[in-house]
Amino acid sequence: MNQTLSTPGSSSGSATQPPPAREPRESAARNAGLSEPLLQVKGLSKEYSGNARSGRGALRLFDGLDLEVRRGELVAIVGQSGSGKSTLLHMLGALDSPSAGTIYCGPTQVTQLSIREAARFRNEQVGYVWQFHYLLPEFTAQENVAMPLLARGVERRQAMQEAAQWLAETGLADRAAHRPGELSGGEQQRVALARALVTRPQLLLADEPTGDLDGASADLVFGLIERLHEAHGLTSVLVTHNLELAGRCTRTLRLAGGRLVEASQDRSDKDESDKDGAFVPQHHSR
Ligand code: ADP
Ligand code: MG
Repeated sequence: MNQTLSTPGSSSGSATQPPPAREPRESAARNAGLSEPLLQVKGLSKEYSGNARSGRGALRLFDGLDLEVRRGELVAIVGQSGSGKSTLLHMLGALDSPSAGTIYCGPTQVTQLSIREAARFRNEQVGYVWQFHYLLPEFTAQENVAMPLLARGVERRQAMQEAAQWLAETGLADRAAHRPGELSGGEQQRVALARALVTRPQLLLADEPTGDLDGASADLVFGLIERLHEAHGLTSVLVTHNLELAGRCTRTLRLAGGRLVEASQDRSDKDESDKDGAFVPQHHSR
């Protein structure tokens, strides 16, 4: 195990067993700047067929999209609304499948997984954070964080203990017993982040995680993502409209014209909001 959960403030110090050891990650290679790719995406396309009855035209989102993300990278993806950022993250996280192309996450060919294997891949390898927190309102913060562990069959006491530790890591040890409705937007997102990481995924996918937050809360949540990314040797792909936050990532890629381009090659991206309307996904009428 290459990481120690920080436990100060954890409310479950009396629990007997430490979390079980897990496989080490390649943080040494990452620190040496020689890390190998974790994500390898080649020739991706996604087509939605039209529906004559509803008048919806067919849509092709990606045009042979390629992407490579090395272990330990924190990659930002920007692009106008409707360009397919969320769809791309869904495909990286095995929540959706492409019409063509391949996605490898390490040795796993994500695009070849059965429904069962995809569910297992998501539970074991991927942490997901959305713009909206999707916490279950009737459960406490700690129960919400424990949920993915319970789903994989971890015994409740153990799951709750690990959840408490992750809440402590996100600075919310004293909010463990609060329900989502009793938390601020920023706190809800921090709980969602703890829930995404409680299973110790190697890949963190975050879809506009600060999009609903005011400036100060957005900064705090983003800072936390950066810190946890670093501390836990994560590989992270983050969609954002905030170019200042994107600028703090290892790389910024712009999704435009159905492909990803390095934002550094696209210096016209000074103001993200001015780009709206600049890229139109290919709609065909049938
Ligand atoms: P972004 O996250 O960049 O705003 P999305 O990935 O959410 O973009 O959506 C990209 C495009 O794909 C949008 O035009 C959206 O309407 C379309 N789209 C998403 N899901 C479907 C679907 N199930 N059927 C048809 N079109 C879809
Ligand atoms: Mg989106």
